[in-house]
Amino acid sequence: MAEAEGPFELPEFDELTHRPLLPKVALHHGVYYTGRCRNACVARWNARQRCFYHWREKFGRIYIEKIKHPADELKFDVFRALEELPNPRFEIPFNKRAEFRGVAEALLEFNERVWCSCERGKKPCIIHLLIKRT
Ligand SMILES: [Zn+2]
Repeated sequence: MAEAEGPFELPEFDELTHRPLLPKVALHHGVYYTGRCRNACVARWNARQRCFYHWREKFGRIYIEKIKHPADELKFDVFRALEELPNPRFEIPFNKRAEFRGVAEALLEFNERVWCSCERGKKPCIIHLLIKRT
């Protein structure tokens, strides 16, 4: 695939890293995706409700949140889906009252990758800015 030229904006691109995003038509019900929103790097698509489910950790508590695809939301944060995650390390039930039964660190596994804008995207990369300086 040829590299697209800007502007690298939602809903086609992650506006921070400039990576191409999966459009809604490419998403499958119940499938897990790596990607980026403020509070998660893995989310699961619910086609019937047209939203993603993800785990959010806040003040030591881990709970389910729902978030929209960028094609459906202009104002609030969205999940920018990058690729399918075939073997997720934790389950994301379609249930807002579910309890997290995985390892909390696993929730952060792809954080560095999805927030890194070194290769393309906005500079400086907020993830690697501090590492490079030391
Ligand atoms: Zn980086």
